[in-house]
Amino acid sequence: MIKVGVNGYGTIGKRVADAVRAQPDMKLVGVAKTRPNYEAEAAVRKGYPLYAAIPEKSDAFRNAGIDLAGEIDDLVMQSDVVVDCTPSGIGEQNRELYRRYDTRALFQGGESADAVDASFNARANYDVARNDDVQFVRVVSCNTTGLSRLMAPLDEAFGVEKARITLIRRGGDPADASRGPINDILPDPVTVPSHHGPDVNTILPDLNIDTVGVKVPATLMHLHSVNVTLSEAPSVDEVRDLLHEESRLFLVPDIAGIGGTGQLKEFAMDTGRPRGDLWENCIWDESLSVEDNDLYLFQSIHQESDVIPENVDAIRAIMDAADQQESMEKTDENLGVGL
Ligand code: NAD
Repeated sequence: MIKVGVNGYGTIGKRVADAVRAQPDMKLVGVAKTRPNYEAEAAVRKGYPLYAAIPEKSDAFRNAGIDLAGEIDDLVMQSDVVVDCTPSGIGEQNRELYRRYDTRALFQGGESADAVDASFNARANYDVARNDDVQFVRVVSCNTTGLSRLMAPLDEAFGVEKARITLIRRGGDPADASRGPINDILPDPVTVPSHHGPDVNTILPDLNIDTVGVKVPATLMHLHSVNVTLSEAPSVDEVRDLLHEESRLFLVPDIAGIGGTGQLKEFAMDTGRPRGDLWENCIWDESLSVEDNDLYLFQSIHQESDVIPENVDAIRAIMDAADQQESMEKTDENLGVGL
């Protein structure tokens, strides 16, 4: 049984905690929060032991009538792996804490690749984390995860000569009241190419990829407009068959009549997905086109949840508790990944 702690219980942390609880080979030791807000209350109602992330603020929990199981050091000490889901940049500062107790840690995509021993995507480079020398692993961002899952099989099957992606990015998550734009379309970043391509290269170092980003007034999902020049020219059916084999790629069928990210999310909620989460890349089947050696497609990425199965696999990988196939199959089955 792998003992897992979650430090930072926001958008990603609460989903990781639920996903860990769903794995029979893992035990959720508890979750660490900075303050006794509604998310702390929800964690308590779920029965998750709660730890104060900032010990000096422990009294705030007591004053709010919330019992603590301990402070962050207690959580780190008891855990085999801590999944750090704190805001960008804080994870890096927490490395000293994890070193103190010789506890392995996973970080999220907002942290720098230089702050960790390895960057991770289950489909593309699972084994990078299965090394005794590896203490810190970064599960790459939602966009990098979505691109790595797609590029790895395309490169293996047909060879990727050059990938060009336009990322149409949601302005913020649904609960991020302070994010924007509200009524604008922003080149973001305005510099070309964007940082996303180099981030994919932390997973697939030899991939020739250029990316550009645009931010729009939406909260539900990102949309990628993908163009990949392949070494050989497959038929659309061959591409479709290849993508069908991948459990974390969902080919949105034409018949479903799903025309956008709003209907994708509605579908997820109607089918009982927790929080309406879409762990898979959602690729519009109708968009698959091949012109000479160029493949085109649209895919949507649910930024709040596609990294969740990857965190679960990264826990097994960093503990060397399963090989790639075994872990991905277990994770998919226990969560219900694969629409
Ligand atoms: P979030 O703001 O929703 O959650 C972060 C949580 O950490 C909050 O509850 C906050 O109160 C808490 N926190 C702040 N300081 C802390 C500290 N010192 N110790 C412990 N907890 C602390 O952020 P998020 O969206 O879950 O992002 C977390 C990480 O995941 C970031 O690296 C981000 O880049 C990455 N990520 C986010 C998304 C997304 O779309 N939300 C997708 C993929 C990866």
